[in-house]
Amino acid sequence: MVILSSPSGAGKTTLVKLLSTNKNFYTSISHTTRKPRPDEIPNQDYYFVDNKKFESLIKNEEFLEYAKVFSHLYGTTRSPIIEKLEKGRNVVFDIDWQGADQIKNKKLNYKLITFFILPPSKEVLFKRLSNRDMKDKLIVEERMQEFSRDVLHWINYDYVIINDNLNECYSKISNLIDAEMNNGSKDYDKEYIRRHIDKLIS
Ligand code: 5GP
Repeated sequence: MVILSSPSGAGKTTLVKLLSTNKNFYTSISHTTRKPRPDEIPNQDYYFVDNKKFESLIKNEEFLEYAKVFSHLYGTTRSPIIEKLEKGRNVVFDIDWQGADQIKNKKLNYKLITFFILPPSKEVLFKRLSNRDMKDKLIVEERMQEFSRDVLHWINYDYVIINDNLNECYSKISNLIDAEMNNGSKDYDKEYIRRHIDKLIS
């Protein structure tokens, strides 16, 4: 199991797609109560459901994890994931730190590698968010504030990767996954990351 988490706008969605295409990872499809964006495909990007349906999934204990993110509910149902893992597939999750914590705490019998993806700077993040579908200044502001809180959770992840350049970022993730799977040596400088985070939160 590979979890990729990141503050909104750090480029994680593309990285998940690359892992799925290049490394044949099965991409977990989450349920959410938020409305689809214009470019999103239901049952492929998300299962878009209403609150009532989401609550019933909670009640029936169908979620491996779920959380409230930006005032909407998001969750991963257990059975499709376990089914894929049992068949020997690797699975990638695009979920936030709350979901990552929950899956980690479940201590399932499958290897878990967690990545936290960060933008190179607050300025770049601001630009990326402003250029997305969220033309609304308030939403950008809200996500910037959320970023300052989210970034503090980096410490609970196995690896923090800075997405300065998408291809380089992907190849770092890919190499670390290979190294973890084959017990190889890992090219990872935790001190550099610590300094980068100090800058991001200062
Ligand atoms: P977005 O609405 O932009 O697609 O996602 C917002 C946030 O929710 C992202 O940080 C994303 O990783 C997170 N997210 C998406 N699906 C899930 C899920 O199933 N569980 C949890 N905990 N977070 C999720």
